[in-house]
Amino acid sequence: MKRITAVVTRTVSAGLLLLTLFAVALAQDQPLRIKYWLGMSQPASHLFDVTIEVELPTEAKTRSIEFQMPKWSPGRYAVFDFAKNVQEVRARVACPAGLDCTTPDLAVTRVDDQTWRTELGNSSPRGSSLMFSYKVFANDLSGTFSQLDARHANFNGGCLFMYVVNHKQDPAALSIKAPKGWRVINGRTEKKDQTEFQFSNWDLLTDTPTEIAPDWTEDDFEVDGRTYRVVVDSLGNEGGRRPALVRDIEKIVRTEIRMWGPPEFDTYTFLIHFANDAHSNDGMEHLTSTQIIEPGALATGDSYDETLDAVAHEFFHVWNVKRLRPIELGPWDFTRPANTRGLWIAEGITNYYGHLMQRRAGLWDDAKFLSTLADQIAEVENSPGSKLMSAEESSLSAPFLDDAGHAQQTNLANTSVSYYPKGEVIGLVLDLLIRTNTKGKASLDDVMRRMYDEFYLKSPNANYYLRGRGYRPGDFEHVVAEVAGTDMDDFFKRYVRGVETPPYEEAFRNVGLRFVREPRTPVTLGISADQDDARGFKIGSVRPASPAAEAGLQPGDIISSFGGVRFSSVNFLKVLARYKPGDRVQVSLLRHNRPVSATVVLGAPQVFDYRIEKLLNASAEANLFRAAWLSGK
Ligand SMILES: [Zn+2]
Ligand SMILES: [Zn+2]
Repeated sequence: MKRITAVVTRTVSAGLLLLTLFAVALAQDQPLRIKYWLGMSQPASHLFDVTIEVELPTEAKTRSIEFQMPKWSPGRYAVFDFAKNVQEVRARVACPAGLDCTTPDLAVTRVDDQTWRTELGNSSPRGSSLMFSYKVFANDLSGTFSQLDARHANFNGGCLFMYVVNHKQDPAALSIKAPKGWRVINGRTEKKDQTEFQFSNWDLLTDTPTEIAPDWTEDDFEVDGRTYRVVVDSLGNEGGRRPALVRDIEKIVRTEIRMWGPPEFDTYTFLIHFANDAHSNDGMEHLTSTQIIEPGALATGDSYDETLDAVAHEFFHVWNVKRLRPIELGPWDFTRPANTRGLWIAEGITNYYGHLMQRRAGLWDDAKFLSTLADQIAEVENSPGSKLMSAEESSLSAPFLDDAGHAQQTNLANTSVSYYPKGEVIGLVLDLLIRTNTKGKASLDDVMRRMYDEFYLKSPNANYYLRGRGYRPGDFEHVVAEVAGTDMDDFFKRYVRGVETPPYEEAFRNVGLRFVREPRTPVTLGISADQDDARGFKIGSVRPASPAAEAGLQPGDIISSFGGVRFSSVNFLKVLARYKPGDRVQVSLLRHNRPVSATVVLGAPQVFDYRIEKLLNASAEANLFRAAWLSGK
């Protein structure tokens, strides 16, 4: 998925583990015939109508059937508890075919926060169908949530479709009844105006985000006999930019296929929204499609470039994470968050290649690519959390970091680092070191291809969900060592499982580049501003082990004067520039509306800007390595 900063944590009780074990024990149940009916009779209500039709098993021992709303959905790892938007749950037995009749409601019991049980009783005729129905409130245009309004319906199945407990692996059909004039499109659409779909299991049903609207557009192109559909729902002005956008998307597709080889589908669908609402912003990967949502209109701002950046990232996921995947990522237990050490690979390395592929496709020049890498390095190296949290630990913390909300105050800003930039800079350094260690014969491209080949294409299927099997951290390290021709255990110990700074200088020097680090400010105080306060500079955060922290300054303090000068977020940098490290400064501040004074001793720079430049006098070999890296040839 695309990285979003900002909603829900919860603790998992030991009881869930028992529930999980129980579910496994029952997983051998006979398959059921399951069909999902999706209606949207009143779009303005934001209520989807869902009915799950289950053909009742003929054996009389089944006394009840349970339906469960997932707590989260794949690609985003925070727990959102989709059950909170479920309402009006009921069940009844369908009328026998050909008859128009009304059947009485069956008893439905809410078992827990995500589960409903339908008692079949003795009167339910075996061989007939149970109709389990409910409504879901949905008004978020996102890669995880869903939206129904007067303009369109855009859904992600995880937050809409309950699974039948112990029957997630059974085939599932979907029938969509759209408002008049609205057309249905998704990554499994095979023919025009298709409204009926068949999936091998619930996981694939929910892997198929769908757009339903009167006015989306479709532009197709072909690469190696496969069809790529660019479906755009513009909720704002396009400024005539769509044809160029489609051509640039094709360049990215061709470039990524050149690295990986042919993808495993006949048709792939880019579902793109220009939300024009200044906030909806997302990207989410799927097996045969992606959802990309930009907050602006295509005609305005940087929507065009941001879309291509999202396309380069999400399309790379076709291989890395959707098919080649850490072992914990599918099939999933939706009663608790997924925990994997591999998101720095699945997301961080994808972020790295998303950027590199835009350079290789000719959409970015060297300067744009190198400055983007420098920004990613700055984000990691300037974050105090990167010295506390390793790339693997960041992956395991994903449920707290991935667009998760927090009801209580947390210290995560100081203790965590995102696996997106952290994984990206590790992937970058790893790539450059492999290139130079092997004298240009191999690269991270080879590692990724070999992983895909070994774990996805050639491994026997480990379960019902997907081809091949998931990899473990040790599998990745093993393949890296084989491709690099040398033991890389030290690298993983220090930079992946540990929190040491990767050897940027060495990695860049080897490809004829100079890595430059410069202080962002001449002295460090260690505070950032909250929103403006008329009384002065309101402290938003205090950097750990900084002069401000040593002096006991706290978030929420309002600095009225600094060294006798009125201090604000506007003149902050200018005032600081008058000092040097070691200077003692008197600070007047308001804390809980009371005046307080403190003395800070300004420190040496702790925050840096980074630059990556061409190295003068680089060796011919280093220049060759760089050219191969940037071009992918
Ligand atoms: Zn991603
Ligand atoms: Zn739409």
